[in-house]
Order: sequence, then C-alpha cells, then structure tokens
Amino acid sequence: MKKKNIHNKIIIIGSGPAGYTAAIYSARANLNPIIITGNIPGGQLTNTNSIENWPGDEKILTGFNFIKRLKKHALKFNTKIINDHIIDVNFNNTPFKLIGENFQYTSDSIIIATGSVPKYLGLKSESLFLGKGVSTCAVCDGFFYKDKIVAVIGGGNTALEEALYLSNISKKIHLIHRREFFRAEKILINKVLKKIKNKKIIFHSNSKIEKILGKDNKVNKLKIFSKKNKRSFYINVSGVFIAIGNIPNTKIFNKKIKMKNGYIVLVKNIQNYYSQTNIPGIFAAGDVIYNSYRQAITASAGGCIASLDSEKYLESL
Ligand code: FAD
Ligand code: NAP
Repeated sequence: MKKKNIHNKIIIIGSGPAGYTAAIYSARANLNPIIITGNIPGGQLTNTNSIENWPGDEKILTGFNFIKRLKKHALKFNTKIINDHIIDVNFNNTPFKLIGENFQYTSDSIIIATGSVPKYLGLKSESLFLGKGVSTCAVCDGFFYKDKIVAVIGGGNTALEEALYLSNISKKIHLIHRREFFRAEKILINKVLKKIKNKKIIFHSNSKIEKILGKDNKVNKLKIFSKKNKRSFYINVSGVFIAIGNIPNTKIFNKKIKMKNGYIVLVKNIQNYYSQTNIPGIFAAGDVIYNSYRQAITASAGGCIASLDSEKYLESL
C-alpha cells in the first residue's frame, strides 16, 4: 500500500535533547517543524532516573520528566510530533525524501538527531541492574559513587577516561579488560598506569565479567573470570561502568551521507554553517556526531545550532 506523503519545510529525525531543542528553536522561528520520534521517543535519557548535570536544575530530575518538559516546550510553539521510525532515505534530490514505517516524507531541510546507543556486554544480570548500579556514563552517574568502590569495563579511550574521571570521586576503581593491554592513546595509558602504581586503580587484564550480583536491587559484587589463571573470582563493588563503545544510529544513512566510524561528519565552513553535513540542507546534531561528549547539554546545544543553520539555509533558497 502506498504510504501517505507529508511535506514540510523542515523535518527533525529523533526526539532526544538534540531533536527537541532543534524543534523549539525552529518552531520559534515560525518554521512549524515536524519531529519524528523514532522507536525510542525521548531518546536515551528515558533510561535514567537521575540527571544531575542539567544546568539550572539542582534537584534530581528523572529522564522521563526532563523529556516530558522538552516535549511540552516544543508543543507550545507549534511543533508537530509524529510517532514514526525512518527506515530509508533519499538525499539525491531536493526535496529530500524519508521513508518511515507509517508515512513517507519530503522536506526542504533535514536535521538528523538520531543519537547513539551504548554497547552492552549482553549479560542478563547487566540489564537487571541497569540504573541500579550498572551505568554507561561516569560523567552522568559518577557522583553517586563518591568514596565507593566501582568497576570500569573496557580497554579503549572511553574506559580509561571513565576510570580516570572516577578516580577523582570514588575510593577505588577496578579496571577490567578482556586483553593483556589497553588499546587507548598513550597519554591516557600513562595517566592510568600512574594511578595503578599508587593503587587507586586496580587493573584486571585478560578478564571478563561473568555475572553482576546485587542485594536489595543494588549492585554489590562482580563475578569475574580470569583467562590467565583460568578461574573465577569475586570483587565487591557498588557500581559498574560499561565503557565498551557506543553505536551511532546511522545505519539508514550508510553511503547516503559522509560518515566516519559510523558517526556523521560535519563539513565545517560550508556557507559558514557549523552543523552542515556534506549535503547542503541536511544538518546533524547530538550524539550522532560526537564520539566523546555524549551529554544532554552538548546534544541540546547541537540541536540549537542545527536549527539556526537550517533557518538561514531555508531563507537562502
Ligand atoms: P538520543 O537521546 O540518543 O535520541 C535519539 C533519538 O533518535 C531517539 O528519539 C530515537 O528514537 C531517534 N531515532 C533513532 N533512529 C531513528 C530513526 N531511524 N528514525 C527516527 N528516529 C530515530 N547525559 C547527561 O547530560 N546527563 C545524564 O545524567 C545522562 N545520563 C545518561 C544515562 C544513560 C543510561 C545513558 C545511556 C545516557 C545518559 N546521558 C546523560 C547521555 C545522554 O542521554 C545523551 O548524550 C543524549 O541523550 C544524546 O541526545 P541525542 O538527542 O543526540 O540522542
Ligand atoms: P573502542 O575504542 O571501540 O574500545 C572499546 C573497548 O571495549 C576495547 O578495549 C574493547 O576490547 C572493549 N570491548 C568491546 N566489546 C567488548 C565486550 N563485549 N566485552 C568486553 N570488552 C569489550 O571504544 P571507545 O573507547 O568508546 O572509543 C570509541 C572511539 O572514540 C575511539 O575511536 C576512541 O579513540 C574515541 N574516543 C576518543 C577519546 C579521546 O580522544 N579522548 C575519548 C573517548 C573516545 P578490545 O580491545 O579487545 O577490542
């Protein structure tokens, strides 16, 4: 059956902080934006019970309430929210074409704000304790582990950065990596080695987590298997940070837009638009462009920039 076509001057793909901020700015510029929510309306933050680093909100804010407020704000200024998930795109001609599960869309300008998803180990116990001691973001949740013992899993830049960040907050950090040595940058490795030397970080190489254990709905122990000694052992921890990489939600843009390591590349200085992709008229913001920042505030800032850029672009047509 042929899908109904919806045309708009501007369409925003994704309903996380980047998408909603872009919608608020575009709506206030009288552009009547459409936002397509995707399969996770509200984005990654809907998975967290506490946001403590959104400036101006000193009280603990749940992800659900935060997104509810962004949505209400966007609706106040005439944003049309459509629950749909984009499965294919055609950026060869204008207007650009998006194929959704429910509708198809044409648009003169597009803001991609499809975010990313953290990689998980895939253990049953990991999903059981998600948000109850299992975290994927030290900057977001580290403060809850002040003076406590925590573990970080991974051996790349992110894992080492998380371990170093936590070493200034927590009592002790167990860094658990499946190989003999790290694959991170030398400078980070050197910093971690110093902390290993003074016993702030305990490094478990060639080790993998077998099970995350807990009591009263909170993590309290890890069962680890050492490949070197071929035996399992337990460590007491209050939290475990999984830092084994992120997957940007860009599969549908493969070979259709310029990307690097799966992230959308911004082509700076094209007509002075900061958020411009390699295709004029298509802008991107949030976790879909960042490998390192991955914060609500950086996503929102990107959404604002993309909206201002797209407004100028539409004016220039
Ligand atoms: P996302 O929030 O990832 O949203 C992406 C949106 O795109 C979703 O709505 C999704 O449905 C949509 N989408 C994806 N593919 C498609 C498609 N094909 N078609 C249509 N829509 C699509 N940051 C903080 O600053 N503070 C915190 O306390 C904090 N806590 C966190 C806790 C957890 C557990 C996690 C995982 C992350 C946390 N973060 C935190 C990071 C923060 O969530 C992200 O940086 C932020 O959500 C990125 O926003 P975004 O808008 O770029 O993308
Ligand atoms: P990454 O480089 O892909 O490293 C992921 C790490 O997790 C690797 O050590 C990997 O082990 C391990 N791992 C993957 N899957 C695992 C699993 N199922 N179980 C256990 N361990 C697993 O990811 P990243 O550290 O998030 O970095 C991603 C990109 O961002 C990189 O290009 C990085 O350079 C960049 N980045 C840069 C900075 C910076 O410049 N300061 C900061 C953060 C990230 P193996 O080593 O065995 O594969």
